Amino acid sequence: MLTGKNYIGNKLSGEGNIFFKTFNPLLNEENNQVFVEASTKEIDEAVMLSAQAFKQYRNISGKDKAAFLNAIADETLALDDKLIQTYCSETGLPEARAIGERGRTIFQLRSFADLVAEGSWVDASIDTENPDRLPLPKPDLRKMTIPLGPVVVFGASNFPLAYSTAGGDTASALAAGCPVIVKSHPMHAGTGELVASAIIKAVQKTGMPNGVFSNLNSSGIDVGIQLVKHSEVKAIGFTGSIRGGRALFDLAAQRKEPIPVFAEMGSINPVVLLPQALKENKNLPKLYADSITLGTGQFCTNPGLLLGVKSDELTEFVKRLGEEIVQIEPSVMLHPNIAKAYHENENNAVAQSDVNVVANYTNNVKSNFAKQVVATALGKTFLKNPVLHQEVFGPYSLVVACEDVEELEAIISNLEGQLTGTIMAAEKEVTEYINIVEALQNRVGRIIYNGVPTGVEVCPSMVHGGPYPASTDSRFTAVGINAIKRWVRPFSYQNWPNELLPDELKDENPIQIIREVNGKKTTNEIK
Ligand code: NAP
Repeated sequence: MLTGKNYIGNKLSGEGNIFFKTFNPLLNEENNQVFVEASTKEIDEAVMLSAQAFKQYRNISGKDKAAFLNAIADETLALDDKLIQTYCSETGLPEARAIGERGRTIFQLRSFADLVAEGSWVDASIDTENPDRLPLPKPDLRKMTIPLGPVVVFGASNFPLAYSTAGGDTASALAAGCPVIVKSHPMHAGTGELVASAIIKAVQKTGMPNGVFSNLNSSGIDVGIQLVKHSEVKAIGFTGSIRGGRALFDLAAQRKEPIPVFAEMGSINPVVLLPQALKENKNLPKLYADSITLGTGQFCTNPGLLLGVKSDELTEFVKRLGEEIVQIEPSVMLHPNIAKAYHENENNAVAQSDVNVVANYTNNVKSNFAKQVVATALGKTFLKNPVLHQEVFGPYSLVVACEDVEELEAIISNLEGQLTGTIMAAEKEVTEYINIVEALQNRVGRIIYNGVPTGVEVCPSMVHGGPYPASTDSRFTAVGINAIKRWVRPFSYQNWPNELLPDELKDENPIQIIREVNGKKTTNEIK
């Protein structure tokens, strides 16, 4: 049952005086449940409790953390249809999407459980002493990663499960040994509260310290700002807009003790249509009409920019893309504010000089639904107008016709950092256009060959991140088990007594992890 309150550790608390409701965009009406925003006192209480919990949680074994993460997965599944129906009522997204996203969330939790149960992820390395070294003896040095401390997680509106309360940021931070305080997304506060209740049950069932997880409601940006400024918070995970991510990044940098902000933000995900691919691949217009409109275009990997060199084939592609896209039935957006932002941003983009609309769904649609739009511009127009480089969050894409390959390369090189880049190529075109491919590689976190950017697989080789502003730190990924590396720091023990070392670094290697010992990867004990 929903209460509308905050979880401060295992305590339900609603002392604040700001109230709000979530919104059902399909019914175009507010949902019934009233939520109460966390007060300044409650924010402080949650953070102080998490700092207290960290003292114990940072030393909990990988096996016990794995049991905790698996229990979160079990308790989330036990929420069953209540979770699915709440998710749908707060987003307008269909049940199948809710079930799919829950599956992804469960998979992420269990993947991190497996990772920490096995244990080698701590990157242990040992350089044993050499007392005979001249001119000075060499000390014994042993290094592994250790957790940073309490992490604040901001989830995105468009993934109420997989990038929110128990999503990738929370799962990876808990796996790393960091307590988590979630700043619940106001658009899906009910979904957030249900998942938070599952996490709290898992805390209790597996004997984790109270305060290892809290969930705070907010109706605006104040709660998040207070959390980022709190001196006991040691890192931030954010998924959302560039504007929001950048604001939090700047705030964290201004603190007396600056802290890392791992913000995964918007992107326009350029797609390069190489000439021969345009000639040979007759399915391209349909493929891209589907990808642009998937989930009403509300994916951070939505293809918002299609690039080609002027040709009859490019003209034909644009015409057919327009024909295909208007045949797709428009769908509802997550919230009236997101629908409003889409209409404003799309209108602003197509109102720029020398931008032409090629396709615009013209029939009337219901409130909160989005009409898909495809526009075109010349390369030189795109190059000189930064407005055209900005994300239009929704079913919108701009096709840019470049004068020649040199202009195409210049455009790619001038793009802001992106989550993904896609190359549509015929045989041998990748080698023929290697400069284009390399220019794209320099701007993105993931490059796709003959496919679409939408769809982010959860696996160790996934990179979901990229040069700024796709993310605030291109050295890390937000998806896949390597996301855990954001929440730890390397730490060395020098000449530390064996019995006082953590198990990961003891001579006898009691948990049998892979370590680098004197430059060689091994599971062997040190004799
Ligand atoms: P958003 O408006 O940036 O909101 C995200 C969260 O940040 C919300 O909880 C919001 O709080 C908070 N926030 C925003 N501005 C803030 C500020 N100045 N100070 C403090 N807190 C602030 O984004 P959204 O609408 O939820 O999500 C859509 C965006 O996310 C799109 O741009 C999409 O591309 C991106 N996205 C990226 C990824 C990725 O992995 N890279 C994945 C999914 C989505 P309030 O709502 O309370 O204002």
